[in-house]
Amino acid sequence: MKRSNNLNISFEDMYNVNRPTLGRQADIVITRILKYALIDYLGFNSASKIYFAGRYVGENCNVKTMDEMKELFMELGIGILDVVDEDPLKIRVTECIGCSGLPNVGQSVCFFEAGIIAGCLNNILNEDVKVTETKCHAMGDDYCEFEVHDIQPSSDLN
Ligand SMILES: [Zn+2]
Repeated sequence: MKRSNNLNISFEDMYNVNRPTLGRQADIVITRILKYALIDYLGFNSASKIYFAGRYVGENCNVKTMDEMKELFMELGIGILDVVDEDPLKIRVTECIGCSGLPNVGQSVCFFEAGIIAGCLNNILNEDVKVTETKCHAMGDDYCEFEVHDIQPSSDLN
């Protein structure tokens, strides 16, 4: 299995949780604290890095179908994922780990989640996509919604 980072820890290693009392359970607040602390500490430009980190995660989750992506989101507690439109592809996530319950701050915040979806879809569709969050609790919506667009091959742009 592919090594995930410079620390030589694989995704498989991360599933090996040796916590007899606590198991895999953790308060999602800590994941939010981590994400928003990174953005506070590194600056808002880090949001795009968080997106690409999420994409890297999605690409390494071995998801091959939309159903497997839904299962991944449920298993990891990221949210309840549904495809709500086909053209353009639109994906809704309810009970999102990153934003559900947050106040309206006037902009979307689910960069990591968008990246995971992009990474999964790169494998499922076998093409490079860009995923943009268009609805979010942090924009006053009741769920997150993500629009999926093809990334045109660079030769088409010239
Ligand atoms: Zn969101």
